[in-house]
Amino acid sequence: MVHSVTVATHAEFAQQLRDARLRVTRPRVAVMETVHAHPHSDTETVFRAVRASLPSVSRQAVYDVLRALTDADLVRRIQPAGSVALYEARVGDNHHHLVCRSCGAVEDVDCAAGEAPCLTPPDRTGFLLDEAEVVFWGLCPECSRSETSVPDPKRHDHPGEHSPLTDSGRKN
Ligand SMILES: [Zn+2]
Ligand SMILES: [Zn+2]
Repeated sequence: MVHSVTVATHAEFAQQLRDARLRVTRPRVAVMETVHAHPHSDTETVFRAVRASLPSVSRQAVYDVLRALTDADLVRRIQPAGSVALYEARVGDNHHHLVCRSCGAVEDVDCAAGEAPCLTPPDRTGFLLDEAEVVFWGLCPECSRSETSVPDPKRHDHPGEHSPLTDSGRKN
């Protein structure tokens, strides 16, 4: 369960597509590149990033690529309550998310148990369980700091203002 921090190359993305029996296309490679570089990006953010390198690509094409990659488990789609769908390349490790109630920033957090379902209810009532969806809600370091100092009402009015593009990096 190694979460690789190395930057994957075009060739590696192409190989992942082939391994998943998907045809290698420039939009697919570009979307994978974007989702790797900017985890927890929404469709619009992915679209804009892909468009920067492939100006002719349509919004619908990016939408279709995201769906194909998600279906092939090359990309994971998460959707915290009240959020649009977000995409990430860290797949298959049952990790969870910390979500900021104020700005919507999303961070990865390892699953304490390791494998799904990582929580077991006291009474399964006959269900065969395979997953417990865990989302940790609170305030990110930035928002908890500003909450105790000068309030910034703009931040609360525009939850999308911290684009995942700029907000996904590790904060100190
Ligand atoms: Zn925040
Ligand atoms: Zn994640």
